[in-house]
Amino acid sequence: MRSEFPPPAKPWRGENLNRIKELPGLTQKERMLLAFKAKGTVCGSTFLEMHIPRYAARVADLRDDGYDIVRVKCPYRFHDHGRQIASYEMRGRR
Ligand SMILES: [Zn+2]
Repeated sequence: MRSEFPPPAKPWRGENLNRIKELPGLTQKERMLLAFKAKGTVCGSTFLEMHIPRYAARVADLRDDGYDIVRVKCPYRFHDHGRQIASYEMRGRR
């Protein structure tokens, strides 16, 4: 099955995050999918910034929807949250 989420060619840009944060009328899952599309790997702290406090539960929902999402160590070295917060990598759709 084709992957809808190839690794992003461009680095994450803040304006994209702000746009996704503010998009009205979208569900949390839809905004998370946009973040994965833009970034490939999304940190839990980013989901918190997007006002999705129960992001782990939403990731479980997305897995139920058929998305292949794995928990990974946060790759963003400028994040200062230590090891408590993991990131999630979107590998495509089953
Ligand atoms: Zn992080």
